[in-house]
Amino acid sequence: MDKQSLFVEVANLEERIGELYTEVGALREKILALIEENQRLEQEVELARQGVRPDGDGARPGKENLLRIYQEGFHICNVKYGSLRTEGECLFCMAFLQK
Ligand SMILES: [Zn+2]
Repeated sequence: MDKQSLFVEVANLEERIGELYTEVGALREKILALIEENQRLEQEVELARQGVRPDGDGARPGKENLLRIYQEGFHICNVKYGSLRTEGECLFCMAFLQK
């Protein structure tokens, strides 16, 4: 391998490292934003959980709240209530919403 192509390769590598560095920075920003969003949602779920508690049938927030919580990515079913939906739609939640 001649010197010239080595220099070219190093220059290319440097450029890619620079791009990666920028990407890592952007990812860090996204992660921070996600963490903040997650904290906000956790607070919201906690509030909703403590919220509307009609006497008698179940300590559950109203259906509109539940739907909103579900759409924000949380379980509202008895199985995993309040935890993050990582596997897409949840049949238990859907069944619950259709009640
Ligand atoms: Zn669920």
